[in-house]
Amino acid sequence: MAGDGYDDSNRAFIQAFMARSTMTFEEAKPVLAAILSAKEGRQVLEGDITQADFTSYITAANAALSPFDLEIRSTLHQAPPPVNGEPPANPPRIYALVNTTSDPLAQLATTYTADEIAFVKRLLDAMFETNNTRRCEGMAVSSMQALQLARSSGDGRRDSTQQQTQGSSAPALSMTQAESVLKKLVEEGWLEKSSKGYYSLSPRGLMELRGWLVDTYNEEDEDGNRVNRIKFCVACKEIVTVGQRCANRDCPGRLHEACIRNTFRVQRSEQCPVCKAPWPGDKYVGEKAMTAIERGAQGRGRTGNELVGSGIDS
Ligand SMILES: [Zn+2]
Ligand SMILES: [Zn+2]
Repeated sequence: MAGDGYDDSNRAFIQAFMARSTMTFEEAKPVLAAILSAKEGRQVLEGDITQADFTSYITAANAALSPFDLEIRSTLHQAPPPVNGEPPANPPRIYALVNTTSDPLAQLATTYTADEIAFVKRLLDAMFETNNTRRCEGMAVSSMQALQLARSSGDGRRDSTQQQTQGSSAPALSMTQAESVLKKLVEEGWLEKSSKGYYSLSPRGLMELRGWLVDTYNEEDEDGNRVNRIKFCVACKEIVTVGQRCANRDCPGRLHEACIRNTFRVQRSEQCPVCKAPWPGDKYVGEKAMTAIERGAQGRGRTGNELVGSGIDS
């Protein structure tokens, strides 16, 4: 249907995307039905909209948007909200119109103040540096820690990384200001807040920040060794901030929960797809890695202590 050139219907489709932070195919159906009804001068029903229609509108939109550093990207939710207490069998693909510029934080400048953006940067540093070590790939921030980051002193930050000390002079926010920024980031679809009160990047946030995260947090240390804090799923090649990891700390083997079963079925064994070691199944990436450490610290002595000391281990 969109094959006959770029027209008002394509523009309306992009407008609809700009008005929302994300859309699934199901959510796009009524939007496309309305757009096509207007275009064709007859009623097009939601049920008539196919995935092929959706895809062709996305392709046309991306061709038109690329000169403006914008792109409609899609991803699956790494930890889709449970349906009746169970992980959904077929979580929907999530589409978002994202900025492809090298500094996506700059686009926050239209709606956030410089101090607020500095706070967002401290949140991201906490997720991807402080709470993302060799021993604990948390990639999330507790509500308490998020509020502590309202202050600019940067206590949570590892001072060993030279280039980041300049952030310590950034002005602070009050607790109330920090709370309202966090709320806004959740409402706008950048962050998600879990039932336990942990903040992490949403699917849209990850799509938007993908390149920036790699540029910012994957680097060489003083000895010239590559430090890849942002890691990718061996199966689907997307960033893993929630999932499982290989037992071998030096192995880059990471898998999303949803990608594990397929991977094991295809390779006919429950081993790491990279180093072939037995897959542990209880080594997590994400909030679960952090809450496992909390439990360890409260309960068992030796294991707990060992893990608690891990904050500075990288
Ligand atoms: Zn995956
Ligand atoms: Zn491995």
